Amino acid sequence: MAEIFVLVDHANGQVRKTTNELLTIAARLGEPSAIYLGPGAADAQATLAKYGAKRVYALDSADVTGYLVAPQAEFIAALAKKLKPAAILIPANPAGKEIGARVAIKTDSGLITDAIDVQPADGGAIETTQSVFAGSYTVKAKVTKGTPIICVKPNSAAPQENAAAGQVVPVNLTIPESAKGAQITEAKEKQSTGRPELTEAAIVVAGGRGTGGDFSAVEAFADSLGAAVGASRAAVDAGWYPHTSQIGQTGKQVSPQLYVAAGISGAIQHRAGMQTSKTIVAVNKDPEAPIFELVDFGVVGDLFTVLPAATEKIQAS
Ligand code: FAD
Repeated sequence: MAEIFVLVDHANGQVRKTTNELLTIAARLGEPSAIYLGPGAADAQATLAKYGAKRVYALDSADVTGYLVAPQAEFIAALAKKLKPAAILIPANPAGKEIGARVAIKTDSGLITDAIDVQPADGGAIETTQSVFAGSYTVKAKVTKGTPIICVKPNSAAPQENAAAGQVVPVNLTIPESAKGAQITEAKEKQSTGRPELTEAAIVVAGGRGTGGDFSAVEAFADSLGAAVGASRAAVDAGWYPHTSQIGQTGKQVSPQLYVAAGISGAIQHRAGMQTSKTIVAVNKDPEAPIFELVDFGVVGDLFTVLPAATEKIQAS
């Protein structure tokens, strides 16, 4: 069966949910193999095998961990040239997209970014549904040259357990000096909010100018659902919420199972970051707000009444 590479997204050995989603997609297409770069492959192996990774190609070297993405691309390209996988799946985050582009050039292959679905097609081809123009359209796309390299957005598949007798396969590869690129001289850990990562979360609750700067109702509602908290640019520009939480054309793009917009009007630039969400709910006191054009469920009301009432119901259930 054709081998499908999946680049493991992990933070200090903790495998992120996106990886399990990618392994689930890989199992549809062929035999999943994980690529694990950095320390902790042996600890991660059980999780990766649980989601179908038959093998875990691992490299733990300062040649990779001490640099930005260039050595990762070098490693994946070298492995792909040797083992000729049927496809390479990479998380569609900023680092992943840069790795994908570099691997595509090194292997003379086609690249698809921001895939939200990947399926086997006739004749062994792979068809993707791709979100383009900042989420304004979705198109069907196939790679027609080389190895399909596909960057897949978080929440594009529900992770399915598919136990495999996975094993770690250490790969010895020296990254040439010329391929290392930018070196990391200092790394600062981000302060944790205790909430899920915005781009990975299954549920996102976002607040806009309608909060008037008071995000307490948005946060309490998010916490009752185990959700991440996002914000519109108006809220970020006002200094009410950090820029890292901005959703939209000039912020992050999210595609959760459930997106709740509270006090957000639904400007085109905001939609660009959230309109591929599976279910969209809006709470807005203006029945004419444009956000209601794209919602699955809309509540016309004051967010400071609606959200606490919903939070109370969820907590009581
Ligand atoms: P508003 O448009 O002011 O809407 C506030 C809403 O809250 C209104 O609909 C109002 O009815 C409702 N409301 C008020 N009080 C309550 C209440 N108590 N309860 C319930 N509802 C209430 N925007 C982004 O979000 N992300 C981007 O990445 C982004 N990039 C941009 C890039 C460019 C180049 C430009 C020009 C703009 C960009 N914008 C972006 C800005 C965008 O055009 C809008 O200005 C912004 O999204 C508006 O934010 P908002 O919906 O929170 O505020």
